[in-house]
Amino acid sequence: MNVLNSLEPQNVFRFFEEIASIPHGSNNLQKISDYLVAFANERNLKVIRDEALNVIIFKDGTAGYETSAPVILQGHMDMVAVKEENCRKNLETEGLDLEVSDGFISAKGTSLGGDDGIAVAYALAVLDSDTIAHPPLEVVITTNEEIGLLGAAALDCSVLKGRIMLNMDSEDEGIFTAGCAGGATADMVIPVAREAFDGVKMHLELKDFKGGHSGQEINAQRANANKILGRILLALKDESVSFRLITANGGEKDNAIARFAAADLAVAAEDVSKAKEAVLKITEIVKSEYHTTDVDAKITFTEDGKAAEALDADSTLRVIRLLHHTPYGVMKYSYEIKGLVQTSLNCGVFKFDEAGAHLIFSVRSSVSSEKDELLGRLSDLAELLGGKCNVYGAYPAWEYRADSKVRDLIVDDYKKLTGKEPRIEVIHAGLECGMFSDKLPGLDAISFGPDMDDIHTFHEKLNIESAKRGFELLVEVLKDLK
Ligand SMILES: [Zn+2]
Repeated sequence: MNVLNSLEPQNVFRFFEEIASIPHGSNNLQKISDYLVAFANERNLKVIRDEALNVIIFKDGTAGYETSAPVILQGHMDMVAVKEENCRKNLETEGLDLEVSDGFISAKGTSLGGDDGIAVAYALAVLDSDTIAHPPLEVVITTNEEIGLLGAAALDCSVLKGRIMLNMDSEDEGIFTAGCAGGATADMVIPVAREAFDGVKMHLELKDFKGGHSGQEINAQRANANKILGRILLALKDESVSFRLITANGGEKDNAIARFAAADLAVAAEDVSKAKEAVLKITEIVKSEYHTTDVDAKITFTEDGKAAEALDADSTLRVIRLLHHTPYGVMKYSYEIKGLVQTSLNCGVFKFDEAGAHLIFSVRSSVSSEKDELLGRLSDLAELLGGKCNVYGAYPAWEYRADSKVRDLIVDDYKKLTGKEPRIEVIHAGLECGMFSDKLPGLDAISFGPDMDDIHTFHEKLNIESAKRGFELLVEVLKDLK
């Protein structure tokens, strides 16, 4: 312990180190939530904790700020707890081993939780201070942000009076986020029937596609292995190969572009060489189309014994159509903000279970009617294929405000502090600000944070100087929100 005690601002890094010593991966938040409640109790600050373990701490405005409009300071207490393959640490029960090197803080063998521990440390440092000037504060520390904004979704916001919010969950200094997309998960389910089918069992494998985040990287126009699988199966049909699907799967998460997919096919013995030729041909076409985005992609098609049972002909065809005819990628760019993806979708997971074939999408849009239109299209297509589409995990968009007092103020203060011109961004991914702006009509919010690299991985690191400037900015903004 006390690896950070020589760093400034001392209080920020002291709290950051305390937080790091408490295990706080998503869904493992009782202890960190207890710590926050104890922090408030020790200082006689009013605190509310709900069933989702969200914690809200209140503090009166300082002298001269008693009647200023309250300000919400917001971050999330959970982190993505991941470790290197050979790291022996138990992230459920043990704290992190912090290290300082070359101006960065990281954790030995694990993710750091700078996302979003730095926000919590900033907030506690302000709450703990007798010298920082600020309006009445409502510090909202949510749970399980990293697994679908669950804490923010569950939070009863009626206890909040503030309509100005500083969200501290960004990881690029100088880039201020002022809007985000809303979205939902859509699970298309197509029932299938099986029957006996004599043939050669063949294994089709697609791997080493580039993948990526279905929000931030959807505009890179990379191949999605699930979509390519559908295209290969359709090519087999178009070449009149007699075959059936046995089983298939692809991708890992609805919000990740699928990097791999695989299928077992039953191919009529007399059509095996025709099938191999067809796969070879479509493989060349796909590789050439994606030669800049998916350079390492590999597609193999090998014999794997004898097949006895498979989907029937109708089910096979419906599953191929499911993969091939569902839309994928960017649907529309913003007219107002150059380069911003407005509406997109990604079929991240393809799998079979007792209910049939599932193709699971992450659908995003900063315009809710466009999101609804896409969900409606998936639902109709599912119906056409004899199935249905279940929608869950919906989160609202945070619409960009033409007028934003807090945005103007933070921009001015940033320029004064650093002499640099900041960037304002609207992002194509979900943020807690969307949840809050939905629940708190008229909310004026901005998201900022210090430089962090490789968040959500065991390479995660926090830039110390940037964290210091981030805190100075927060202090300055609070002072100016009189
Ligand atoms: Zn975060």
